[in-house]
Amino acid sequence: MKELQVALNNDRSYPIYIGSGLLAQADLLTRHIRSKQVLVVTNETIAPLYLAKLQTALGDYQVETVILPDGEQYKTLQYLEKVFDQLLAKKFSRNATLIALGGGVIGDMGGFAAACYQRGIAFIQIPTTLLAQVDSSVGGKTGVNHPLGKNMIGAFYQPQCVIADADVLDTLDDRQLSAGLAEVIKYGLIRDPGFLEWLETNMPKLLARDKDALAYAIERSCVNKAEVVGEDEFESGVRATLNLGHTFGHAIETGSGYGHYLHGEAVAIGTCFAADLSRRLGWLNDADVNRIIAVFKAANLPVTPPKEMTTEHYVDLMAVDKKNIDGKIRVILLEAVGKASLPVNVDLAQLQATLNGYAG
Ligand code: NAD
Ligand code: MG
Repeated sequence: MKELQVALNNDRSYPIYIGSGLLAQADLLTRHIRSKQVLVVTNETIAPLYLAKLQTALGDYQVETVILPDGEQYKTLQYLEKVFDQLLAKKFSRNATLIALGGGVIGDMGGFAAACYQRGIAFIQIPTTLLAQVDSSVGGKTGVNHPLGKNMIGAFYQPQCVIADADVLDTLDDRQLSAGLAEVIKYGLIRDPGFLEWLETNMPKLLARDKDALAYAIERSCVNKAEVVGEDEFESGVRATLNLGHTFGHAIETGSGYGHYLHGEAVAIGTCFAADLSRRLGWLNDADVNRIIAVFKAANLPVTPPKEMTTEHYVDLMAVDKKNIDGKIRVILLEAVGKASLPVNVDLAQLQATLNGYAG
């Protein structure tokens, strides 16, 4: 097992445990639990796979559960209320602990519930998708969606620990695994060129779910995310670089109808757009762009933009990004392979050239 530290101020630092067979290691959990009251929040897909194992590890505790329906469409205030209902019905106090067992949806909801209940109870992340293990479980962003916007209601709230057990990825479907790899590749592109090279060599092992390769990729991703978050917890600077490909990607997710592309798939295409735009600014050359396209392809991710979206449609959707200031579209680009820029105010003509010109 590997243990990493997310270093934050005011005693809010916490460990990330990465390895195999961790779900059964009771002491990893119990060292972070303050009272007998434990609520596990999970969903109806994950519960039959992993809930019993967790309950066994917590044999001595009063373990209650909330099993939510599976899907991004349930990441709402309405379903969050089911968590509060259970906490109150079971008379949970401020010393209680909430464990989120699931992908990013469950992690974001569980974290936000823990932040709100009695103004904050202890919270443990057990991420079960690759995306959640390398991205959403680390860094303290929690929340739910609103009908008028994704992740619009939320809080920064850090967990006591993150337990990333590579074994749970065995049951994840191939498409979800690849979607998680998009965020893994992102860390290589924005700040870790050595890791990018490792990924280029080891992609077949990752796709074959080689445990050691997965654990290494999770570890290196979490090291990168932890460093960025440790430097800029509330996203006033370098944390924005984690959004490489995301402004284009969000436009693709929204423009092609939610559910058509997984987030990581849209980020893969979005990063190719960002690479193309970086080339137009003279920061990357053709070989760099081709290398970036190739690594996404090797992870079985799409690199071709959806045919039905027009340049106007993209520009319209990109104009509503959280990074924008005074109506200017801002995106993260690459100054080199392995080095992200801070948000760049894009020149509209150049953006249009990329949107018209990059075809995969
Ligand atoms: P998800 O939570 O919807 O999980 C994807 C699917 O895999 C679901 O159907 C889930 O039930 C299933 N699943 C999960 N673990 C499994 C396992 N071990 N075996 C079999 N099936 C399993 O999606 P996700 O990609 O994990 O997360 C996406 C969410 O994360 C979005 O809501 C996004 O906004 C959020 N997110 C948050 C942050 C953050 O910093 N907080 C960062 C990135 C994404
Ligand atoms: Mg993302």
